[in-house]
Amino acid sequence: MLRDPFGRSIDYVRVSVTDRCDLRCTYCLPKKFNSFKEPEEWLRFEEIERIVRGFAALGTRRIRLTGGEPLVRHNLPDLAQRLAAVAGIEDLSLSTNATRLNKTAVALKHAGITRINVSLDSLHAERFAAITGGKLAKVIAGLMAAKAAGFTPIKINMVVMREVNADEVEAMVDFCIEHDFTLRLIETMPIGEPGRDAVNKYISLQEIKARLERRYSLIPGLMPGGGPARYVQVAGTDLRIGFITPMSQHFCASCNRVRLSVDGTLYLCLGQNDVYPLREHLRRGISDAELQQHIITAIGHKPERHEFNERPQQIVRFMAQTGG
Ligand code: SAM
Repeated sequence: MLRDPFGRSIDYVRVSVTDRCDLRCTYCLPKKFNSFKEPEEWLRFEEIERIVRGFAALGTRRIRLTGGEPLVRHNLPDLAQRLAAVAGIEDLSLSTNATRLNKTAVALKHAGITRINVSLDSLHAERFAAITGGKLAKVIAGLMAAKAAGFTPIKINMVVMREVNADEVEAMVDFCIEHDFTLRLIETMPIGEPGRDAVNKYISLQEIKARLERRYSLIPGLMPGGGPARYVQVAGTDLRIGFITPMSQHFCASCNRVRLSVDGTLYLCLGQNDVYPLREHLRRGISDAELQQHIITAIGHKPERHEFNERPQQIVRFMAQTGG
């Protein structure tokens, strides 16, 4: 098993397959940003598979494909199929904005993706466009295609912002009850300039939870996930709501993950600058044993915790570049 210097077992890797995205969420990427990695810098599918094999040999059981927008990368189902077949990988999931899910949901299901998380910050088309620059109708079509393809659970990720969409949380709760989705509410993080700007709209989820408690009866403690969300169930329904609170109540003590970016850099913490480049080693032709040794060395550099509150200026890269 991979253990970091703080005794945490690292068994989850978020694999970014691209830093590009077809949306420009206000809190994630600047509108005009265009300095993306070039194709020769991207890990090829066989390289991603090799790194995942290396992690799996060291005890990793869960992989999530992310980005940027992962469905912008051509032939993603082919990669999913390769990773689903890696010995030891038990859970292969996808984070997407769902704009392209309408066309790919069935292929992704066949390829072995088990679970899907979809970003959705508003159910109002105009507001959705203002936050993301995209079309709500496409996302809803993608979500419904994922449901029809049989993905379960489907989790909705909503970044909650004061004076932007915080008034919509109850509507999102009702939407998720109606469609049998799980809802996860997320606090804005100061990642890159857009993230720092969004932190001006920060609202603590403790406040949102107190508001929901006045309208719904929330049963705590259900659905222990492998991740940071603390879940409650809405009594009388199947709906689970997860609260992801990096700012108001951080969860670093139970961190179990690292992130692999599209250019083969391991990011050891979302909120720190500690990285370990793997691609240059891979392309030098190292053996599997050497690759595993590099992974072990990298995990040895995992920091204890983020410092989003103490040092909000410190992360200049954008979320889409790290692999959210
Ligand atoms: N495009 C995919 C998606 O929409 O899920 C995957 C990548 S996206 C960067 C992953 C998640 O990061 C999304 O749910 C997005 O809302 C969230 N995110 C991006 N920037 C953020 C920030 N500054 N604070 C909190 N969440 C952020």
